[in-house]
Order: sequence, then structure tokens, then C-alpha cells
Amino acid sequence: MIVERRIVIIGAGIGGICAAIRLSRAGYRDIVVVDRAERIGGTWRDNSYPGSGCDVPSHLYSFSFARNSDWSRKFVDQPEILDYLERCVDRFGIRPMLRLGTAVTSATYDTDRAVWDVGIEGGPSIEADVLIAATGQLNRPFVPEVPGLETFGGTTFHSARWQHHAALRGKDVAVIGNGASAVQFVPRIAPLARSLTVYQRSANWILPKPDRRFRRFERRLFKLVPPLEIAYRWSIYLRLESRFSAFLEDSWMTGLLEKVALGQLKKQIADPELRRTQRPDYRAGCKRILISNDYSAALDRPSSTVVTEAIDSVDADGITDATGVHRAADVIIFATGFRTTEFLSPIDIRGRDDLSLTGVWSEGARAHLGITVPGFPNLFILYGPNTNLGHNSIIFMIERQVTHLMAALAELDRRGATTVEVCRPVAEASDLDLQHHAEHTVWLGSCANWYKDESGRLTNNWPKSTVSYWRETRVLTPGDYEFSGTAGPPTR
Ligand code: NAP
Repeated sequence: MIVERRIVIIGAGIGGICAAIRLSRAGYRDIVVVDRAERIGGTWRDNSYPGSGCDVPSHLYSFSFARNSDWSRKFVDQPEILDYLERCVDRFGIRPMLRLGTAVTSATYDTDRAVWDVGIEGGPSIEADVLIAATGQLNRPFVPEVPGLETFGGTTFHSARWQHHAALRGKDVAVIGNGASAVQFVPRIAPLARSLTVYQRSANWILPKPDRRFRRFERRLFKLVPPLEIAYRWSIYLRLESRFSAFLEDSWMTGLLEKVALGQLKKQIADPELRRTQRPDYRAGCKRILISNDYSAALDRPSSTVVTEAIDSVDADGITDATGVHRAADVIIFATGFRTTEFLSPIDIRGRDDLSLTGVWSEGARAHLGITVPGFPNLFILYGPNTNLGHNSIIFMIERQVTHLMAALAELDRRGATTVEVCRPVAEASDLDLQHHAEHTVWLGSCANWYKDESGRLTNNWPKSTVSYWRETRVLTPGDYEFSGTAGPPTR
């Protein structure tokens, strides 16, 4: 028996789609999924750059309730993931719930009426009893301020806003940044460009990518024998999970990964000077460990240059580095990542008594299990603070969060209440515990990474195993939450 509640989900990426499917399968009917873009897919819609793909093995990168036995390869490319998400939307009948091309600007909780007023750009607001924020951690591209950028005469874009019509063939192409996205597209564009210059601030640890196409009989076997596919999926999960210790200080695993990465570097780069620039000066794991079989080789081409000096300025026809060397560029591609610590921004979220979420998070974003925040009743965050991983699938985390929020709604129904809010002492204690665990990870080490904010607080990553996350989100402890209000009778 459920009480019908008006549910608004912000974001039609993996998190929003997962929540909409699970809630509608549970019987909730009044669900609206709002997304500012014209198409679903979130990060997999935005990141369409050449070579874009997932660095989590395909068979784990799907919902547990909609496994896909037909992935074409071990590490699947972006178009296939986007296609999978589109198929899920149709298969589970949630397309009528989508309201695309609709940007949410604010969400304000009316304490007296216990409803969320969701502000829409250029349109009437939507009322919700339950608000689910599924905007993700990687949706707002970050472009650094570079003096003179506005004077550049060529084409410039961010990797998450790839301009597919921009000509790269025979052009002088500059890439700023060398992270997870750059290692995927640099090998694709290096053979096209007349010259390719990668501006690198720090090197990355890069492991081989054990990728290949699945043979037709393997795909058929996975389809015909589901237990085989399930066992394969589990084996991937367990293999990835066993690597968690690499993110703890003093782990033997770190040394092993570094050895493998350096071995590949030696094989792919003949020039010792170039090889030196690609050797990280921090322990593996502090930044995301990358996987690629061809990035280092793409740098060791006669037409490629790696610049490790800082960028001084941009002028009409190129980039000048800090030593005064000017290099021509027709195209500048920013592969400089995302505004990762500004969760939910720029949506103005106001909770009980006009409490501003931005204000509450002024000293670093935090949420109980990454999902709920005291002072914000009936607000659930997916892929929120401290739920990113360096070693396993985010879909696993998102599914745990959806399970948890559904348990909260079930408890509301059971009590006939209207609002659920995490108790402040519970949220504070779980945050203390989380930051205590963070101290034992390599992420707080000397390297700069996007997992911590400017003050050095770990805001993005979950510092424990995913098994711990599963355990902590598995059951909802009613005593951890305050329930209030009186709901109408169950509707079905
Ligand atoms: P990223 O990995 O954070 O890389 C950003 C790059 O830009 C880094 O090389 C960084 O240098 C550089 N940079 C940042 N600010 C700069 C500045 N002011 N001047 C010069 N360089 C600057 O970003 P991303 O490649 O877009 O990837 C972001 C995240 O998306 C990844 O960590 C991953 O979680 C996700 N992703 C996943 C996949 C996948 O396969 N699943 C693929 C792509 C991306 P420093 O390293 O020195 O800071």
C-alpha cells in the first residue's frame, strides 16, 4: 500500500532515470523528471567527444534490474551507453514522465504546507511532495580563466561540449588538461591534427585497458545463460572492489599499480625526456587512476608536444607559456574537468525556514550517506556529496541511494506521515565518521584532485568500500529520521 505523492526528479541522467524507474515500478504514478537539456542521458549525453567511453567494464555499467547481455565490448563507448539508457526509458515506460528542455532555477520548501515549490526558468513552478536532486557531480564544465582567451581568433570549446563540426584535420590543436577525458580523445585527434600540443599541469598514473570486442558466441551465451552473465558481472564487481585498498595509505596495492603503469609507459614512450614528463610525482590513486592503451603513444608522435610549463596567456593565434614560448593554435580544447564541489549549483535550494543549501554547505558539501541533509525535509540527493568512487561503478552507488530513499518513503507510508528529515546529530555523527575515514585515504595527500574542496575537506569521494556503503544504506533506521505530518489514506 502506498500513499500517492507528487515526486519531482531534477535530472534525467543515470540517477534520475534509475529513480523514476524504481519508483514507478513500486507503484508511484505522479512522477515528473525535469531536465534542462532536450535529451536524456546526463553525462553520457554531454560527453560525446571522440573516444568517449566508460572506464568501468560494461557488464557492471548497467542497472541491476536491467542488465545488458549484449554490450559490444569490454569497455563500451558513449553512444552505446546512451542508447542503453534510451532503451531503459522506453522499456520501463517512463518517457511520459520526462519534461525535457526545462531548467530548474530554484526549489523552495514551504514549511507550513510541507511542499517543495520547484522554480522553472521561463515557466510556472511545479509543486512536489518529494524532491529528488539527481544533477550529478560532473555536469558543469570548468574552464579556467586564461588571460587573453577572449582575443583568440580560432575555435575553442570544452570536451563536454564538443563541437563536432569544428575541423581538426590539418589544424594546430592545443589541448589544455590531460585527465580522464583527454586520455580518451587525444589518441583519436592526434593523427588528424597538423600539430597537437598538450598543456599538462601534472602527469597521471595510466594503467593498460584490458579492452576487446565480445565475440558473437560470447554475447549469445550471455543472453542464453543469464546466470553466466550474472556471475561475470559479480566477478567484475569483486575484482574492482578488491582494488579499494589502493586508495588507503601504505597499501601494497599502490606499489603494484605503479609498477604496471611505469612498465606500460616504458613500452609506449621511447623518448626518455618525454617519459620523464609522464611520470607522476605523487602516489597512485591520489588522482583518478586512468586506463588507456594508446594515450602515451599518441604523445610520442613527431607532431605531438607536451608542455609542462604553465600557460601565461592566449592571443589571437596561439598560446604563450610561462617561459615566453608561443605556440600556434587554430583550436583550443579545454579538457579541464568540472565544477565538482559546487553540488546542485546554480539551483537555489531553500529548506525549512528559508535555510539556504549553499549557506549550509559554505564550509564544504555534506549529506547523511550523501543523500539527506538536516533542515531539508523530503529532499533526497542522488550521487551527492561523498558518493563518488575511484574504483567501482557509480551505478552501484546510485542504486543504493534509490533503495534508501524508497525505504524512507515506505516508512512515511507506514506511519501515514508527510515529511521525513534526517536528525541533525545523526548527520553530524556520520559526517565525522566519514571525515575520519578520509584521513586514511591517499586523496587528502599532496596531489591536487577534484575530490576535495579548497579547504582540503573531502567532499566528493566515499572513503570506505562499496560493501560498507551497501551495509549502511541497506536498511533505513527509523530512529535516524524525524517523521511528521499526517498524510491521506493509501491510494493503492
Ligand atoms: P579531470 O580528470 O579532472 O582532468 C582535468 C584536467 O585539467 C587535469 O589534467 C587538470 O590538471 C587540468 N586542469 C584543471 N584546471 C586547470 C588549469 N587551471 N590549468 C591547467 N590545467 C588545468 O577532468 P575530466 O578529464 O573531464 O574528467 C573528470 C571526471 O569525469 C573524471 O575524473 C571521471 O570521474 C569522469 N570521467 C569518467 C570517464 C569514464 O570513463 N568513466 C571518462 C571521462 C571522465 P591537474 O591534474 O594538474 O589538476
